[in-house]
Order: sequence, then C-alpha cells, then structure tokens
Amino acid sequence: MDSNQELQFPTGDTVPFPYPQPYAVQKELMSAILTSLRQLEQREVSNTDSCNGDDDADGKKSAPIIMVESPTGTGKSLSLACASMAWLRYCQEVDLIEVVVQESSSDAASTTVTFTADVDTKKKRRAWLDSWQPDSSAPSSTLLGNTNSAATKEEVNQVKTYAISNRAALNKELNALRTRLSKLSNVAAISQSDRDGINQERVLRENLLKSGISRALAVARKRSRNDQMVGRKGGDDHVKKRKVAAVEDEFMLDDYQSDEEKKCDSSDSEDEVLSNLKNTQTTTTSAIQKISKQPTIQNLSAKALLHGANLDGSGYRVDPERNARSKSYSNTTAQSNKTPTVGQVTPGSGLRKIIYAARTHSQLSQFIGELKRTQWGKDVKVVALGSRSVLCSNDDVLYHSSKDKKRTRRSEAEITERCLDMQKNNESKCPMLESSEAVSTLALHSLTIPSDIEDMANLGKAGHACSYYASREALSAAEVVVLPYNSLLSESARQSIGLTLKNALVVIDEAHNVPEALRGISSCQLSLSVIEAAMSQLAAYTAKYLGRLAGRNLSYLGQIRRVLLAMSKYLKKPPQNKCNENDDGGGSKKEMLAAVDLMFRLKLDNLNLFTLLRYIQKSRISQKLLGFVNHAGINTKADSAVTEQLEVEQQNTFMSRHISALSIVETFLERLTCTSREGKVIVEWPGDSASNTSGSNAMFRFVQIHSASLLDSMVEEAHAIILAGGTLRPFSHVAAELFGQNDEVMKAASTGEVETSKQYDIATPRPSSFVHINPQLTTFTCGHVIPSTNVITSYLSSGPTSHKLDFRHNSRSSNEMIDELGRTILNLCNVIPSGFVVFLPSYNYESAIFQRWRSTDMLSQINKKKPIHREPKSSRDLDAALSRYSMEASSSKTGALLFSVMGGKMSEGINFANDMARAVFVVGLPYPDITDPVLVEKMQSLDREYQRLGTGITGQSYYQNLCMRCVNQSVGRAIRHANDYAAIILADYRYTSDSRIWKGLPAWLRSEVPDPSNSTFGKVLKNIRGFFTEK
Ligand code: SF4
Repeated sequence: MDSNQELQFPTGDTVPFPYPQPYAVQKELMSAILTSLRQLEQREVSNTDSCNGDDDADGKKSAPIIMVESPTGTGKSLSLACASMAWLRYCQEVDLIEVVVQESSSDAASTTVTFTADVDTKKKRRAWLDSWQPDSSAPSSTLLGNTNSAATKEEVNQVKTYAISNRAALNKELNALRTRLSKLSNVAAISQSDRDGINQERVLRENLLKSGISRALAVARKRSRNDQMVGRKGGDDHVKKRKVAAVEDEFMLDDYQSDEEKKCDSSDSEDEVLSNLKNTQTTTTSAIQKISKQPTIQNLSAKALLHGANLDGSGYRVDPERNARSKSYSNTTAQSNKTPTVGQVTPGSGLRKIIYAARTHSQLSQFIGELKRTQWGKDVKVVALGSRSVLCSNDDVLYHSSKDKKRTRRSEAEITERCLDMQKNNESKCPMLESSEAVSTLALHSLTIPSDIEDMANLGKAGHACSYYASREALSAAEVVVLPYNSLLSESARQSIGLTLKNALVVIDEAHNVPEALRGISSCQLSLSVIEAAMSQLAAYTAKYLGRLAGRNLSYLGQIRRVLLAMSKYLKKPPQNKCNENDDGGGSKKEMLAAVDLMFRLKLDNLNLFTLLRYIQKSRISQKLLGFVNHAGINTKADSAVTEQLEVEQQNTFMSRHISALSIVETFLERLTCTSREGKVIVEWPGDSASNTSGSNAMFRFVQIHSASLLDSMVEEAHAIILAGGTLRPFSHVAAELFGQNDEVMKAASTGEVETSKQYDIATPRPSSFVHINPQLTTFTCGHVIPSTNVITSYLSSGPTSHKLDFRHNSRSSNEMIDELGRTILNLCNVIPSGFVVFLPSYNYESAIFQRWRSTDMLSQINKKKPIHREPKSSRDLDAALSRYSMEASSSKTGALLFSVMGGKMSEGINFANDMARAVFVVGLPYPDITDPVLVEKMQSLDREYQRLGTGITGQSYYQNLCMRCVNQSVGRAIRHANDYAAIILADYRYTSDSRIWKGLPAWLRSEVPDPSNSTFGKVLKNIRGFFTEK
C-alpha cells in the first residue's frame, strides 16, 4: 500500500473472500455488519472530537448490537469469519498506525516517529490518540510518571513501538514454525504420498511440538543449573518451621471494615496454577524490555513471546525508577485502566480480539474450519477454550481405568476436583504441569495453525503438557478466541479464564439459544442438606476462633447463622394447603414466590441483605471456612470435637473439597437481591419430605425469568456484539429476552422487525435480504440460496383415511390419531427417496406411538419400507446412532427413516444434508406447557413491559414464538447447501387454519398463503411424488 494512501474501512464489496463469487446474501450479510461497525467508528471519532466519548447519559458505554439472521446452508459462518477478520485486521493497522508527535511549543515543527516493525508505515492521525489525556484524578506517578500532554503523546508512541516490536517477535517465531511445518509437510508428502493429508499434518505438528518442548526444557535445565550455582536462600527449613498454628491463622478472619476496599489475594487453585506458570520464568520481563531496542531478538522464550502486557504495550515502562516508586499502585484497577494500550484493550490482555461463542463443539470447529479457508487462515492466531473434561491431557485424571476408557470416563466435576487436588498437593503434582516451559511452548505452537478443541487436546497429549492451561496461556496472544457459551456469558467464568471483552468484537452464533443458556447460568438451587452443612461448619469455625474474632466479625457471623437457621426451619415445615401450593398427587409441595416475599416468610425482612453479602464477599468467609474444613484434620487432640463434628457431617453429605457449602448459600443470597421481575424462588418439598418432618430433600430453587441484566457487563465492555442465527426473527423476541431493560434497543428491535416485515416479508418479488441499521441495533435477514424449485413445502391437514390431523395435546394420543399418523408415514415412504426424518412434539409422544404401532403391526410394515432409526436416549450414543442412520439413508436402496423430537438432541446442530434428509416431516406443534408457573410469570411480565413501552412483544406472541422456533429449527436440518433439495411436510390442520402459525415459518419456506383445499393427503402425496420425479 502507498504510504500516503488512507486506510479504507472494509466493505461487503472489498472484503477478500475465498471464492471468486460469494452468494449475494453472503455479500449482503458482510455489508450489513461492516456498515454498522463503520458507523460505530465514525460515531466514536466524532464523539472523541467533541470530547463526549461514546458514553450514554448515565456514563455507561453501550456496545451496538447487530442481529443477523441467515438460514442454515447459506454460508453464514464463512461470511461472519470474513467480515469480522477484515474488521480486525483493519483495526490492528489503525491501532498501530504512525502518529505525528506535536512538540509542546506551538510553533515547533512536527516530528515523526518511524516504526521498525513488520507493519507498513502509514500516515494518519487518530483522533483518540491525539486527545488521549491522563485522568487528573489518578495519581500522577501511576501514569508512566508524566502528565504533560506532549510527553504523553510520546509515551503513547513508545508504547506502540514497544508493542509493535513484541508483536513482530511473536509473528516472526510463529512464521518460522509455520515454515518448518510446511517444509516438513513437503518432505513427508514426497516420501509418504499415500498417507492421509490431515493425519499427516497432525503428526508433523505434534512432532514439531515435541522437538520445541525438548529445546525449551534444555534451556530451562541450563538456567536451573545456573540458579543453583548462585545458591538458594531460605530453603526447606523455612517450610518445616511452619507450625500448625500458622496454618490455622490462614483461616482466621481479618478485622472487617465495611467501607474498606482492600483487594483480596486470590486463593483460587486455578489462579495459583496460572500464576505459577507465569512466574516461574524470571527472565521474561528483562528479556522483553530489550525488545523495543532490538526488534529482531532471537531465542525469546515462548512465555516471553506470549506475554499480554508486551503485546498491548501496557508492560512498557518509560521510567523504571519512577515506576518502581509507584509499585504500590501497580495492581490496582485504577492504574490498569489508565495504562495506555494499543487498541485500547484491557491492559495486559494482549491483542484486540474477535470472540466467537457457540453452543456446541462442532459449531466451534465449523467456525475454525471456515476461518482457515479465508485469506487470513494461514496466519491468524486462534485459541479454542474448553473445559478440563475436553482439554485435560492426563488419562489418570480423565478415566477411572485406562484399560476401559469408554466406560470409565470421569464426570466434569470429578476431573476438576482431581486436577485441583493435584495442584494443591506438591508431591503428586500433575505430570502435565511439571514444566512451565513445556506448557508455554505448547501454547505457542497451538497458535501456528487455527486449532479447535480436539486439535488442542491432541497436541497436549503428544507434547505431554497440559492443553487446558496452555490454551489459557495462549489467550493474550490470540486474535480470535472461540469458546462455548457458558464461558462467555458468565462474568465470573470470564474472570476466572482471564478473558476481557474490552474493544473486542463479540460474535454469538445460534444466538436464539442464549436466553436459555443465561437462564441455566443464573438459576441455582440450595438444598436443606447444604444449609445444614454450612450451619455446622460455621458453628465449628466460630467455636474454634471465638476468643480471637473481632466484635464486628462475630456480629456478621451471627447474622449468617440467623439466615441459615431461618431457611432450614422453613424447609423443614412443608406448607399445609396454602393457596399457591401445588400438590402433584405424590405428596410433594411446591410454591413460587418473589425474593422479597421469601424474606418476609423467613422473617428476615429487617435484615440488610446487601450489607451482609458485602461482608461475605469482602471477608472471604466462604473460602476461609472451606480451608478450615479441609484442614481440620491437621490438628490433633485439642480440636477432636471439631474434627469429629466435621467428619460426621462429611459422611452425611457429599461436599466437594473445592466448593464451600457457604459459597452455595452465598450464590443463592445474591440471587435474592434481584428484582421480582428478574427472577423468582421456587420452594420444593418432595413427596417424602412433605410426609416427614426432616424435609431432607427440600430445597429452594432460584429461576431466572428475565436474563437481560446478565448481559449488561458484556454490553458495557465489548466494541460491538453480533448475534447470528438461522432463526432469530422476530427480532423483538430476542431483544426482549436479552436486552429487555434497554428501552432504546427494544424500540430499535421493534422498528427493525416492522420494517423487515414490510419490506421483506410482504414485498413481491421479495428482495434477497433486508437490513435495517440503527445506532443501537442493526437487524439483517435474508432468504435461502437454493432456487425455489429445490424445496416443496406441504401443509397436511388430513391423513390417508381423511382423518383430521389434530396433534393438540388432548387429541394426539388417541389410537385413531396414532394409527392415522402411521398410515401417513407408511404411504409417504413410497414416494420419498433415501433419508426421511420425522420430528415429533415430545419424547412421551414418541414412546406412545411406538408402543401402539408395535401392538398393531404398523411398526413392522413401516420398517419394511424404510428401516427405522430412533433418536437415542443418551447424548453419548448420538454419534453412533447418526452414523448408522446416515449409512443406511445414503447407501441402501430403500433409504432409512429416523424418528426424532423437536427441541431434542437432533433438532439442532446436526447437518442432514443431501440423502440424509430428502424429506422432513413435522408432526404437530410443540407448544410449551402453558401451566408452567415460570412461563406464566414470564408472559405476564412481558405484557406489563409491552403496556409500559407501547412496543416490544406480548406474552402471547412470546409463547407462540417459542413453539415456532422449535419447528423452524427442525425444518432447518434439511437443505444445507445451494444444490441440496428436500420436501418439508407440516402435519397438523392448524398450519392452514391459523395465520399466526404460518407467519411464524421462515419466509423462504412460505411462498404463498396455504390453501386448506390443497392440504388433503391425496394432493400432498401427488405433489411430493411429482417433486421427486423431476429431481
Ligand atoms: S493440570 Fe491439566 S492435564 Fe493435569 S489434571 Fe489438570 S487439566 Fe488435566
């Protein structure tokens, strides 16, 4: 690029695409995203110019939301990958662009800083850099020791130069690794041309890693020998001298002052492991400090290359002496926020990022696959984050028996438990963490080629190093982070990973799942047994430290005890015929109430829950109690009573060694501080507890009704949020679920929906897509890429014997209805080739029809036409079941028939392309249970919001959408690419009689208003036969 050429923001037309001609809808989707991001940038620049920033009236930043709906099979993932990568690379260049530094005197000539890095030198002034000023409220010594604005600009330039050099060193190392891998691949390809390409790449990559680790270990050993020569201070004696009393002191509460803002040391085992990994290499900082002076430094350790503060520039120290004086501020948030960084990311977090989240691992792998196909696929730095259960490299931890891996795999909780146990116990430390050099080298190698979770796990096993901790170490250097929903949506999970969203582009795929995921994250339960465990632990703790605890501590511990006692009493007394109880006939009782009402019932309404929670958090009593319990055995006779008490308690209740009973109580109490709109408490007394007075299984369950507030922190931090999916409409439904408290977003979503409906749904001919851009919320929808001749949509109102197909809850289970359904499927098998997928409204109904058909011989008749397959009960059997069905559907003469359930394991994320599904047959409408009190509450609350705002979504529409989303997900399993074709059959008279149902189908499926006279079985069968004859 010419040095005088202005950098151009990418557009749908200029984004490099891996194919000569993207589909029109792909181009339009990229254009919608980039136009919205472009407008955001323009707003930011103009806000900075006018010194307003991009904050709203209450001082909070609000990331714009971009909702993009594109049917499955339209290349959505590739478009998302291209648009977001084009944006990222543009931003990276702009972030590092040369700055003209003004001299402090007004008449001085401008001087130019020239970077010696591997990025092109370009001339452009960035408004945010020019106007960057230290916050006058912060101590001057924390701001790189200088508040002079001209010098500050120079500092920013130095920070950038420093970051550029460090990035260049990392890229150079990664490129060297890529070149070696490529050369090895060429040699291997010549000598072993018969080997499978992907497998070969994997083996070579693993070998390269092994040799890299050997080298890193050799360097580490040399350094260790040098250290030994220098001599150790302290030593084992120091450890031995630690007395039991000192251990006990660890659990002693500090004097508490409620207004104190002391930063607590983390005792979390994971943090310890991470910080051990980071701290073991003492040469990192000094080595990196040299980089700015010598950009082509050789032989930097992997850890030094990956260090986040070096990559974002925040690790740069302009004045080491002054910096040493300001050390006391170095860990405070205030200081961190003021440290200038490249790209304005959170200091120390590394590079500006795209963060991509999806529900399943296969969706994450698919996105990485698409990323590899883009022009950036060869050098983009990607990290895939996953749980220990998928990334742990230690077979002894993963399995009970390595001889029978299939049946002895441990649960996720057990794996975490064992891993953390090993980190705490120095003698049996996990061998995969033995060398921090090995883990860092693994982290570095993982960035050479975009790797999914499975690749990462394999690399860890090959390199004999922990993939779980390596992936977290690679995080700061990664440009793209892919991770499952839960790790992104939960603020505490983000904190524990060390993932910050500041200035990142967050992409959430299949975003219609997000509300459910949020509900899962925020809902919690608290059983009587946990309450009692917490009570006895607290009693033992108080007894032990009674004489040493300050009065304020004793007062708060008394309050905690009061709360526990009240909850325990309440759960032990099931209600007797109270008005809102719900006896299910088995003697169980249930009631739902607002948090504030529960506090009244518990007679705790005069308690300041916020103050108490603040105490629990600041004093870290939950962690101290856990430490106390786990270490209680260390003492002998003096505390035998305490130990005995704890032993009895742990026999009665399984309590994790890493989860404190009081922390479960704390989580529940936190939920009680929410508004009654956000959530409710359900109190459950199971049958046995209702009849006995101990109420041993009784529990409180907090259910989240509205999850909107849970995304607040994400909206405040991120640069922008893209919500993508195949079934996102109506947009106001998703907006109400995720951003219901934001009136501006709600209004924008409603306007977007109305405009989309007017311009896209009703228009004739329909445009290929429609976008509505608003500063708060952009909405985009598009049609399918297949020609209309590749799909036939049939509405079926009656069966072969003219029996009305009525699959409402009360009528669908009659023998007549089930028999007619059997005859319908039997006849359709005659005209549908290859794979035929049937979606049923519920698992219970699936069992009922199989029971009936078995007794009437219908099952064997159908089985003769097409061999029957069923959705497995366990997710573990899903892959095997799918591969059996796929084999038979694609290769046998008759094809195969698969029965699955809407909203079940096969209704989402499974690709039934080509012969796997030449027809999808949807039976009935899967409306949720309208008597569910949580659903009722949600609907009523939406009605109230609708009345208040005059826009949004009503409870009834919400209910309707829940059902149609399930139908649309199932329908979307077929037709996965432009040349695919299939018949979609919707069986139920309501599809033609109720316009709300028809309108809830995707626009690309409903070309014309259904005609009931064309929905008889004879006509439908004839049309479908004709459709397949022409194919
Ligand atoms: S440190 Fe890593 S490899 Fe070892 S047990 Fe934990 S997760 Fe598994």
